[in-house]
Amino acid sequence: MVRSTPIPATRGPCGVNLNMATGLGGATPSPGDCTICITCDTILLFDDNLLLHRASKEEIETIPDEIKACYAKYIAFKKTHPLPNTRTMKH
Ligand SMILES: [Zn+2]
Repeated sequence: MVRSTPIPATRGPCGVNLNMATGLGGATPSPGDCTICITCDTILLFDDNLLLHRASKEEIETIPDEIKACYAKYIAFKKTHPLPNTRTMKH
């Protein structure tokens, strides 16, 4: 099941408004979790207030290998299945 959860609004590195998070298996975000911006594919982390920031190189190194593998699969899938242009979609 895939479910989206409202999160405190922040701007992604590309300027897109990020106000929802979608977790695999119905997971909801917790502080320290990672996610990606679906517009620019930047790896982001939730802080203690569930605000997102770009993950530093050091933070990326702490992400479990299975999550990194999932990210790589997503990037490969997205290359063959482009998402609609979210910059023009209403949020
Ligand atoms: Zn972005």
